[in-house]
Amino acid sequence: MDCLFCKIVAGDVPAEVLHTTERTVAFRDVDPQAPTHVLVVPREHFANAAELAAGDPEASAELVRTAAAVAAAEGHPDDYRLVLNTGAGAGQTVFHTHLHVLAGRELAWPPG
Ligand code: 5GP
Ligand code: ZN
Repeated sequence: MDCLFCKIVAGDVPAEVLHTTERTVAFRDVDPQAPTHVLVVPREHFANAAELAAGDPEASAELVRTAAAVAAAEGHPDDYRLVLNTGAGAGQTVFHTHLHVLAGRELAWPPG
């Protein structure tokens, strides 16, 4: 399977990795939309968050725990946004599920 985030997990595509756990890898987004913009991905390939939750619930929980640890390490323990775009119509462009961690600026609601 030709998957960009599987290649980042494997170390075959370079990325600025901030944090790793048994089941997850966190790295900076190449096109940041906030001062902190980190992607947390499961090491194992799942197309979206629902498939991850169904296939490996512990990895799903670890994704959120890792996101909280990353936000805290970036200096934003209390105020950050987690986003899981699911489907092309909702803005998903990489079909290896990834949790966006955004922090460090005002974040409007509702999102665009
Ligand atoms: P999506 O639109 O699927 O929710 O998010 C995909 C994210 O992956 C985008 O924010 C995009 O900037 C990021 N991205 C795309 N290609 C790369 C890459 O090669 N390296 C990194 N670090 N991020 C990438
Ligand atoms: Zn993948």
